[in-house]
Amino acid sequence: MSSLKSAIPLRRTCKQAAHLMLSAEDKPLNWRDKAALKIHLWMCDNCPRFERQLHVMRHALSDWRNEITK
Ligand SMILES: [Zn+2]
Repeated sequence: MSSLKSAIPLRRTCKQAAHLMLSAEDKPLNWRDKAALKIHLWMCDNCPRFERQLHVMRHALSDWRNEITK
């Protein structure tokens, strides 16, 4: 990371934000990652859309899982 980027500690790229959203599926994020992600979602146009898709996908997937493990 460049010195300029690390001067803004909670700044994340879209790629990093997507990574945080995906790892949040497995385990809860620490407060720092959570705050960084929140700030990114607030500033970004694309990532909130990705987050919604992720939610839809997770629900669809758990429905499907419930369906086949009945
Ligand atoms: Zn983004």
